[in-house]
Amino acid sequence: MKQQLVLVGNGMAGMKVIEELLALAPERYDITVFGAEPHGNYNRILLSPVLAGEKQPDEILINPIDWYAERGIQLHCGKAVTVVDRDARIVRTDCGIVQPYDQLILATGSLPFVLPIPGRDLAGVVCYRDLHDVEQMLSASRQFRNAVVIGGGLLGLEAAYGLQKQGMAVTVVHLLPTLMDRQLDATAATLLQQTLEARGIKFKMAVQTSALLGTERVTAVQFADGSSIPADLVVMAAGVRPNIALAQRSGLGCERGVLVSDTLQSSDARIYAVGECVQHRGQCYGLVAPLYEQARVCAAQLAGNSEAFYQGSMTSTKLKVTGVELFSAGEFQGGDGCDSIVYQDAGAAVYKKVVLRGDKLVGAVLYGDTVDGGWYFQLMKAQTSVAALRDSLLFGPVSEAEGGGQQAVLDWPDDKPVCDCNGVCKGKIVETIRGKNLQTLDAVRAHTKASASCGACTPMVEQLLAAAVGDNYSAPALPAMCSCTTLSHDAVRSAIREQKLLSLSQIFQTLAWRHADGCDKCRPALNFYLLAAWPGEAQDDSQARFVNERMHANIQKDGSYSVVPRMWGGVTNSHELRSIADVVDKFQIPTVKITGGQRVDLLGVKKSDLPGVWADLAKAGFVSGHAYGKALRTVKTCVGSEWCRFGTQDSTAMGIQLEKLTWGAWTPHKFKMAVSGCPRNCAEATIKDFGVIAIESGWELHVGGNGGIKLRGTDVLCRVETMAEVEEYCLAFMQLYRDEGRYLERTAPYLERVGLAYVQQRVVHDAAGRQLLAQRFRDSQQHFQKDPWAELASPASRERFIPIVDLS
Ligand SMILES: Cc1cc2nc3c(=O)[nH]c(=O)nc-3n(C[C@H](O)[C@H](O)[C@H](O)COP(=O)(O)OP(=O)(O)OC[C@H]3O[C@@H](n4cnc5c(N)ncnc54)[C@H](O)[C@@H]3O)c2cc1C
Ligand code: SF4
Repeated sequence: MKQQLVLVGNGMAGMKVIEELLALAPERYDITVFGAEPHGNYNRILLSPVLAGEKQPDEILINPIDWYAERGIQLHCGKAVTVVDRDARIVRTDCGIVQPYDQLILATGSLPFVLPIPGRDLAGVVCYRDLHDVEQMLSASRQFRNAVVIGGGLLGLEAAYGLQKQGMAVTVVHLLPTLMDRQLDATAATLLQQTLEARGIKFKMAVQTSALLGTERVTAVQFADGSSIPADLVVMAAGVRPNIALAQRSGLGCERGVLVSDTLQSSDARIYAVGECVQHRGQCYGLVAPLYEQARVCAAQLAGNSEAFYQGSMTSTKLKVTGVELFSAGEFQGGDGCDSIVYQDAGAAVYKKVVLRGDKLVGAVLYGDTVDGGWYFQLMKAQTSVAALRDSLLFGPVSEAEGGGQQAVLDWPDDKPVCDCNGVCKGKIVETIRGKNLQTLDAVRAHTKASASCGACTPMVEQLLAAAVGDNYSAPALPAMCSCTTLSHDAVRSAIREQKLLSLSQIFQTLAWRHADGCDKCRPALNFYLLAAWPGEAQDDSQARFVNERMHANIQKDGSYSVVPRMWGGVTNSHELRSIADVVDKFQIPTVKITGGQRVDLLGVKKSDLPGVWADLAKAGFVSGHAYGKALRTVKTCVGSEWCRFGTQDSTAMGIQLEKLTWGAWTPHKFKMAVSGCPRNCAEATIKDFGVIAIESGWELHVGGNGGIKLRGTDVLCRVETMAEVEEYCLAFMQLYRDEGRYLERTAPYLERVGLAYVQQRVVHDAAGRQLLAQRFRDSQQHFQKDPWAELASPASRERFIPIVDLS
């Protein structure tokens, strides 16, 4: 009969034991798993990307519920074990389940440390440990503005980054004068703080939090000096404590953690313990790599290998804040008996320090350029003598072997560990890259799991990828615009700006176009790039435009056109409706339809009637709705506070104002906006290129939504308080998109290409840059905010126009 193995704690360390054990001795045990959380096992490391909106909760599952069933594992989710009866060899849960065991594993993890201060039980005070905490933070970020994170360590900074990405105004308060004091020296910590400050996160350093204020919900954080700051959400990220309550109640030896030997057995030989709840040789660990090392030894022991021993781990740290490169490991502070070698490039915000004791590398801290972090870490772990490398140590492994960096990484032994989180060695990575002909980091992650957890080994995996693929490896080049040139869209745009090219013919000549007049792919794109770069100076070539833009109406399948007059913010009146009705009658327009963007579409207009229709509509005060253009289309609004019981702001006025500012603007692709008067979001602002939603404290701004073929919800850009700010941010975003979006690239793929953090940096955090962008937008509107209908319907132009209509 099989032995009964029970795991208490369905987290990262405990489940790693089970996975390893199934690989070693799949038939040896009947396995039962108890987990206090109501989900399958998930990658806790990736909570930060979930909070930052970079991953969805289901993307961080390691083992879904089916996985357990398929392997015959009995899983009790959402059931906490409250009793371990060691005499009877049973465990009991809070809901009365009783389960016997022959061998038991405790892997109960840690509990967040809650500061013992008044107000800690108020609504809006959360810890940062599990999916439930992330859900609470995300929900608060949708309703409130001010977040305060207590603790400037790894978790606190990741929480701050995530909440800021969700649009909150975030302040980090920290007891000590420098951030991440357990992982960084003062120089690296200062650089980190400067980077985060530049992104808009505020810091209050060297302060002691004395109370959280509020009656039901927290409203402020108070400090020992009597000062306070407003807070609608407080995240306590002040450290963790091993969760040893169950072990203590069961009479197991505990100090800070559950005491375990090198075989991971507790003071009761039938009870193993792994993970953050454990204390081994005086050490408790709070990172995954050492816990996975424990798990492998524990599994080997349970599989019958009594020779497997755990002898402690060395750890390294990486911060998962997009765009912040930081690595630290070992004795990074240096000190007595140590030598430090330091490199600093203040301009490039790069700082590197390696610490040596004798001829061994014992610590490193890197900021800004962490590509060699993995290499240093391996040298430390292997206790390699670096005497011969001392002079070149700061320049990384490229100088390690004569064949240069690529040969050097290929010369690593196959069993050299690369990804500590997932226990993947160099040999396995190279074999998989070659065997499966992998070309990208994502593919290597998907096939090997290497670099798929904390990311500390990513530079090493990239080096292996480049080395294994060899000469054929190159960062994918941007494709040429079209067959007329070898230049990409971006290269052509740069040339237009740098060489001040003002017309299509200048581009064709200067950039040696293969076809003298370009083609129907490049001509419209080039025309847009010229106008975007040099508004008022570049020549608009109407013949370079697609038929709809040339005709200022949409061509339909029977060759007739449809005409959409602009109705600001979707608002109209009896005069306008009567005028439209008269036009419909006069030109016998067969269909009148309301569009999804709240405008009236007149369908079935004959080509020859277009100038007459425009003239009559212009007489009634209409301008073109640009329903045909790669331009601002509509600003959809709800009825907002003017009429709606729920509305907190006048969304209609806001929409009208935005439309009046932006109509006529050419953009890389069509551009749609919406404004909702409250978070019920009846105007569907979360699928628009730029969406605005009224909230209690002002307006929440959204970008990059698309309701088209590929549905994409917006990302929250930020929150602002006033209508003037909404305008400025909107114009700045449109200008940025106009500057950098490739022709026919909508804001959704643009945003995914450049990243939300980049757009936030340009539009939110860099106030001067934002004002400049907005001003450039306003300036260019002087040239573009002209109604094409009015121009073309004038008697003089009409004569010129009609033959063109007839010929097309
Ligand atoms: C936001 C965040 C970011 C992190 N980032 C990184 C990182 O970048 N790199 C890194 O290496 N590490 C990181 N960590 C730390 C890492 O996630 C932990 O070290 C690791 O998850 C600990 O594994 P564990 O199995 O010991 O504990 P856990 O994964 O916490 O699992 C313990 C489980 O036991 C359950 N449990 C507790 N008591 C009972 C009971 N009585 N009955 C049943 N179930 C019980 C708990 O509910 C929990 O699910 C991060 C942690 C957090 C919270
Ligand atoms: S979004 Fe809010 S304010 Fe606007 S109509 Fe809907 S419920 Fe009313």
